[in-house]
Amino acid sequence: MIFMNFSNFIPEHMERRGKIVLEENLRIIERVLEQRSVPEEGIKEELIELLLTKLSLMDTDKDPRAIRIGEREARVWSKLQERSVFYFNHGVGRSGNLIDPQPKAPGASIMYKLTNQLLTSFLKKLGLKVKAFATPVATGLSLSLCLSALRRKYGIREVIYPFAGHKSPIKAISLAGLRMRLVETKIFGDTVKAPVEDIEKAIKKDRCAVLSTLTFFPPREEDLVEIAKLCEEEGVPHIVNGAYAIQNNFYLDKLKKALKYRVDAIVSSTDKNLFTPIGGGIIYSKDEKFLKEISLSYPGRASANPIVNTLISLLAIGFKRYKELMKEQKESKELLDKLLTELAEEKNEKLLEVKNPIASAITTKKDPIELAGKLYNLRVTGPRGVRKDDKFGTSYLGVYKYNYIVINASIGVRRDDIYKVVEKLREVI
Ligand SMILES: *Cc1c(COP(=O)(O)O)cnc(C)c1O
Repeated sequence: MIFMNFSNFIPEHMERRGKIVLEENLRIIERVLEQRSVPEEGIKEELIELLLTKLSLMDTDKDPRAIRIGEREARVWSKLQERSVFYFNHGVGRSGNLIDPQPKAPGASIMYKLTNQLLTSFLKKLGLKVKAFATPVATGLSLSLCLSALRRKYGIREVIYPFAGHKSPIKAISLAGLRMRLVETKIFGDTVKAPVEDIEKAIKKDRCAVLSTLTFFPPREEDLVEIAKLCEEEGVPHIVNGAYAIQNNFYLDKLKKALKYRVDAIVSSTDKNLFTPIGGGIIYSKDEKFLKEISLSYPGRASANPIVNTLISLLAIGFKRYKELMKEQKESKELLDKLLTELAEEKNEKLLEVKNPIASAITTKKDPIELAGKLYNLRVTGPRGVRKDDKFGTSYLGVYKYNYIVINASIGVRRDDIYKVVEKLREVI
């Protein structure tokens, strides 16, 4: 990796022995750069740090002889700040295009390219034949980038939004300068979803796109594959909000099927799927050219921090461990359902019958908001209490059938916490 002269310090056989260890370790990061795919085994932090340090030492602000007279020369006051961006002080991207190499930051540019290649290989290993890039913004803003690209590419003016009660996609549409047309949801059994016929009616053939929502709280479901078919038939662009889709095969299978029809791009969150701090997104698509156009929507340069965090997760977790985490998530959800079913029987409540691989909902005769408040005071975070007339909570504009509490068993949830939350729920429900 770097030639270093270690000779004549210690006996030669010891030096040889030391070099074997060093080379074996360095091989691990060399392999990442050769194969450019997510490693099977997670890589230890010292080696990831070495790789990042080495790359950041390529950026021009580290050049001891550089003559720096621009208005933006990565003049960073504190090491605390430098550490927060892993020394990639120049950030990533150019004003013209987020994913283009930045001349002042060759190291950060390689780091970004590597991240995108690892992401692409990661999704491929999960069965999605797409290209991907990491964004320096979370899901909502990443959706805006996609919609803005649709607007430029196709002259889209209106976005058909099968209603899912989340403010961030709705704001994403408005930020992209587009009008929103809601398609109301209906109740089917316990499930709430927008009938595909109604989406079809809402599609005005020219100048509209569809924003569908793959991952959502119960009782909302989405007929993603049917929507993708419809968009294919009607020639309507289609963006998928798959905020936490990557962690579970139920969602990945739907995406695989939908990708056979019309899906222009999918957005997922790095914190919800990849264990990063909040602030990053992943955009993926079969159409590499369209991804480039999406990256053109980003106005300016960006902090390297969300990108490096994505890279670190991919390297540190490794594919094998990620698959285990997916399996553990599935088991946690099964455990949650089992415990909630027992609790429901005991308290004369019921589990909502909704196909959702992450979250479960249990009805309550008490005020669900009050219950959620009590749980919060019992130091439980995450449950949502939804009243049946809360249109945003239920994703249904009429009055839903029940008041209920939603509990999540997302990737990374501790089994112990599943037991504990149901115990706390038993105290208050
Ligand atoms: C989390 C989430 C969002 C918002 O994501 P941010 O990362 O906070 O922008 C939007 N839609 C859905 C379905 C989500 O789950």
